[in-house]
Amino acid sequence: MGGGGFRIDKEELRIIAEKRLHEKTENIEKIPEDVESLIHELQVHQIELEMQNEELRHSRMEIEKLHQKYYDLYNFAPVGYFTISLTTKITEVNSTGANLLGFPKEDLTEKYFRWYVANESQKSFQSCFKKAFREMEKQVFEIGLIRKDGIIFYAHIEMLPHFIHKSPDDREVSLKMAVIDITEQKKLEKELKRSNKELQQFAYVASHDLQEPLRTIASFTQLLAHRYEGKLDADADEFIGFIVEASVRMKQQIEDLLEFSRVMTRGSGFQKIKVSEILKGVISGLKKLIDENNAEITYDSLPKVYADPKQIERLFQNLISNAIKFRKPDEPPKIHISSKEENNEYIFSVSDNGIGIEPQYKDRIFTIFQRLHTRDKYEGTGIGLAVSKKIVERHGGQIWVESEYGKGSTFYFTLPIGRERESELFSIRTE
Ligand code: ADP
Repeated sequence: MGGGGFRIDKEELRIIAEKRLHEKTENIEKIPEDVESLIHELQVHQIELEMQNEELRHSRMEIEKLHQKYYDLYNFAPVGYFTISLTTKITEVNSTGANLLGFPKEDLTEKYFRWYVANESQKSFQSCFKKAFREMEKQVFEIGLIRKDGIIFYAHIEMLPHFIHKSPDDREVSLKMAVIDITEQKKLEKELKRSNKELQQFAYVASHDLQEPLRTIASFTQLLAHRYEGKLDADADEFIGFIVEASVRMKQQIEDLLEFSRVMTRGSGFQKIKVSEILKGVISGLKKLIDENNAEITYDSLPKVYADPKQIERLFQNLISNAIKFRKPDEPPKIHISSKEENNEYIFSVSDNGIGIEPQYKDRIFTIFQRLHTRDKYEGTGIGLAVSKKIVERHGGQIWVESEYGKGSTFYFTLPIGRERESELFSIRTE
């Protein structure tokens, strides 16, 4: 029965197919004569398709080339790149990153980045990591990382959090990290600090220890001058005079050198100070000099800063006494002190109407013992501005002068705002 049924179906199908074929052939007969043009159109389409295909092949090759370029850039950049998840699992790493840790790339994926953070850096890594995804802001920090061979190296890390959208309402945070090995830099920094400290100590010890024999020379030549003046010949008197004068000068220079080296080694702690209060003290201390020269000193409202009060006092003392000392002979000194805020620092200025400074000496005057005039014209040893520069640098600022020769000078110095703890960066203590 089933076989008969099948036969009938087959028969029926054959009849339907024949009928359809018949209809088709009928239609074919009805096809307009322009079949040829249709075939032509089809051929044109085919050529167009082939051209498009060729273009696609070309674009694909371009993309592959670009991809290769990106891949090379990513892998062989001098910076290690890591992408990590919220559990610090490494989802992607470039060849440089893998080399930094001493592993083949494939050994690092799916491992946890925190495993490679040195013990003493775990805390700071965790806190930067948490901060990055809590605030969704870039974090920059330095930590120790452990290489495969167990050696720890120091890394500068820039960590950038970003969202990965898995679906319109499902997103996940991932962190991209750029890692640079700064071990060499750290070593150099350490070495520089050490040699700076050594130099400071050397300057201090040398000037301190030189004082003693010099004191003996000075007092005995003075005794010699006192006791034998007029008893030897005129030349002897003159020579003794030279020795006395030179030893007094040398004593002053050694004291200056000592003061210079003490800026770094003997500074006191930083505290919040009112600059106007310091300035008032300086002005009253210089009262005699101010009165003698008929000087006029004015100042604007000045901010509070975080600094070593004694050193800021010394700084203003140097700048103001210079402004009076290097006055024009026929004009009473006019000095004005002001400050402004710019780029997260205060810029202070002390301007005068004095003799001014020729442009070629603008830097030289900040070097120790460098003066532009002879001592008989203007008193001094050339230490004031060198000490001022050291003080400003210890506070993390800069000092410079702008001047119009013959018209006056303005000395500027900067002090950082709001870097309370960092400001004492350059301090070295040798107690
Ligand atoms: P000193 O005052 O002992 O010479 P400083 O280090 O204070 O040493 O100054 C160095 C030199 O800079 C001075 O000898 C002087 O030539 C120049 N100078 C400093 N301040 C001023 C000023 N306000 N006007 C003109 N020249 C100045």
